[in-house]
Amino acid sequence: MSEKMPVLFVGHGNPMNAIEDNEYSRAWAEMGKSLPRPKAILAVSAHWETNGTKVTAADRPKMIYDMYGFPKELYEVNYPAPGSPALVDTVRKIIKMTDVEPDATWGLDHGTWSVLNRMFPKADIPVVQFSLDRTKNPLYHYQLGQQLKELREEGVLIVSSGNIVHNLRAVIWDDNAKYDWAESFDTKVKNWILTDDHDPLINFQRHGQEAALSINSGEHYTPLLYTMGAKDEGEPISFFADKVTYGSLSMRSVRVG
Ligand code: ZN
Repeated sequence: MSEKMPVLFVGHGNPMNAIEDNEYSRAWAEMGKSLPRPKAILAVSAHWETNGTKVTAADRPKMIYDMYGFPKELYEVNYPAPGSPALVDTVRKIIKMTDVEPDATWGLDHGTWSVLNRMFPKADIPVVQFSLDRTKNPLYHYQLGQQLKELREEGVLIVSSGNIVHNLRAVIWDDNAKYDWAESFDTKVKNWILTDDHDPLINFQRHGQEAALSINSGEHYTPLLYTMGAKDEGEPISFFADKVTYGSLSMRSVRVG
C-alpha cells in the first residue's frame, strides 16, 4: 500500500515570490523537501475560473503569465513540468458530481507555477491543473475536494493555491502592514481548521463585515475548501508561512497529514 499523501493549501500572494528569496518562498521550498515524492500533482489555482470544471489536458502544459506590470524576470520563469493524461483520466473517473472537461487551451498559471517553482524546482513531477467552476457555491467546491480525496492514496499531491484573506483594493505595499479585520479573520479561519469545524469555513458569508472584507472576491479563498474537503477527520494539521502581509493578504499555508 502506498503512503497517503498530505494535502496542501498555499497562500501564494505576490507573484514575485516565484523568484524572490524571502520567508514565504523559503517556507515553500522547505515544505517541498519534507514531503514524500509525489507521483503527480493536482493543482487547484485561484487563477483559473471557468464555467464547469476543467482540467489541463496538454502533454506539456504551457506557461500562463496572468499577471501584469511585474519585472521582466518574472515573465522569463519557465516551469516545464509534464502533464499527466493518466491523472486526467483518474480525476474524470472519481468526480461523480459533474463531468470534468479536459482542456487543451489552459496551462499552468502563476497561482500554480509561482509556488511549484520553489517547492519542486526541478519541474520533473507531472502537473495537472484543476479549474474553479465560477457558477458554484462554496459547499460544492468543498464536496469536490471530498471526491478528490482518494487521489491521496495513489501518491498524488493536491496543492491548492489562493489566499485566505485577499483584498487587493485594501492592499498597503508594506510587507509588515496588517489590518485588524484581516488578522482577526485569519485567526478565526486558523482555529476552524485546527478544530475540524468545516461548517463555518464553508459558510464564511455568515461572519459579517470582517469576512466580507477578507474575502471580497471568493476565488482566492475557494481553493482552501478543496484542501479541507480532502482532509480526513482527526488528521494532523500544520501551518507554514502564516503571516498577514500587505495589510490584507494572508500568506497562511496549510499542510494536512
Ligand atoms: Zn493570486
